[in-house]
Amino acid sequence: MPPTPPYSGRVGGVCPGTGPADRPQPDPALEEPMGYAYYTVTRHDGIEIEAGYAVEAVCEQDGCTEQIDRGLDQLCGSEPGAPEDGCGGYFCSRHLYYPDWESEEPQPLNCKPCVENRD
Ligand SMILES: [Zn+2]
Ligand SMILES: [Zn+2]
Repeated sequence: MPPTPPYSGRVGGVCPGTGPADRPQPDPALEEPMGYAYYTVTRHDGIEIEAGYAVEAVCEQDGCTEQIDRGLDQLCGSEPGAPEDGCGGYFCSRHLYYPDWESEEPQPLNCKPCVENRD
């Protein structure tokens, strides 16, 4: 056991007088980590599509008009484009399912046809 420093538990306190009031405010869009807001991926059918949570889309389930984005939370499968464990489509939360609630492994979300095709 290393000795406990005397300042334990009081690290990281806010120092008064260093507020950001006069600093120029950065554009929030420039603060986003690169890569997730917008990118293009190639689907199973060879078509390149726009993806990322900044891309607006409609749920790909037939008849569903739910507005979504193409973030990973809406993806069927574990990676954008042509995942091995899904179709790479984008769906609203009502049309994405966990294939196996019992599993301790992380599970990708899948659309209904993909869930039914899993085994
Ligand atoms: Zn699917
Ligand atoms: Zn839907």
